[in-house]
Amino acid sequence: MNNKVVANRASRLSREKKPEIELSFEFFPPKTEVSEARFWASLEKLVPLNPRFVSVTYGAGGSTRERTLRMVSRITHETGISAAAHLTCVGASRGEVDDVVRGFYDAGVRRIVAIRGDPEEGVGAKFVPHPDGYANATQLVEGIRGIADFDISVAAYPERHPESKDWTAEIDNLKRKYDAGAARAITQMFFDNRDYWDLLERAEKAGINMPIVPGIQPIHNFSRISMFAKNCGAKVPQWMAERFEGLENDASTHALVAASLAGEQVTELMDGGVKRFHFFTMNDAAQALTLARVLGQRS
Ligand code: FAD
Repeated sequence: MNNKVVANRASRLSREKKPEIELSFEFFPPKTEVSEARFWASLEKLVPLNPRFVSVTYGAGGSTRERTLRMVSRITHETGISAAAHLTCVGASRGEVDDVVRGFYDAGVRRIVAIRGDPEEGVGAKFVPHPDGYANATQLVEGIRGIADFDISVAAYPERHPESKDWTAEIDNLKRKYDAGAARAITQMFFDNRDYWDLLERAEKAGINMPIVPGIQPIHNFSRISMFAKNCGAKVPQWMAERFEGLENDASTHALVAASLAGEQVTELMDGGVKRFHFFTMNDAAQALTLARVLGQRS
């Protein structure tokens, strides 16, 4: 029997035991009543999986401030699941950001995903901090820690942040966020697991001893996700684009291909020892539920 067959059998055997897996799910704040109904329906399906937390993003320049607060507050009080509010510091003074942090605390929220945010002119433009504002995520983490004892997550980038000039700058930045008090990093989407393994190795060498949780993006809609990926500097491999070619009007095959590719990605990560996963749900439970099953998790 060759090594590959032995390795495959070993990983299948290891999957027979229910693994100790920790899940978190990311949502965005809905804009309309219809999309809000969908948000709650999706969340309701994911709650029985007992996620570590559910996070709600923060729109560029604070555009979703009230909605993010309303959603995390309701999740905290109505579902029994821990909610994490994303927070950015784009276009706001320190005082304004600090008020938002206090608002989260008063609403019972104890977790924040602390993110610098993209320039108001869009990705690719030069980031100019507010004259009285936090200039980057490290300063934001420090500011939050000065207000209350939050559990803070930060962002990490398996393919480097587009503004980092090299890997040294990238890892130095992650280290600053870790030293400032981040409890974990959540990665940007990636589709080649080698990029994630390389990031773990670099972080370990730099003494960054916090979990770096893979951010998993199932392909809900190939053209939309490709556009998001392009905007945040994540590669969509050509072989992957080919799997979705011609499926624009075939939603059920598209969904099955998406589930199979993301299933392959998370299985490989789990077999490599990963125990925590963060799913970008796009407010739709179906792919996240499928992947939880693939990871041996069910309600
Ligand atoms: P930072 O960690 O501050 O880094 C930004 C860049 O500046 C990096 O290139 C870094 O190397 C450089 N840098 C920082 N500090 C220094 C320094 N002292 N010296 C030199 N260089 C420095 N966006 C939203 O608008 N809302 C969200 O809710 C949101 N959620 C996200 C969640 C996750 C898990 C991820 C991965 C991203 C999210 N984003 C969100 C996108 C994010 O806003 C962008 O990726 C943004 O461009 C960078 O944010 P950051 O927190 O990584 O910034």
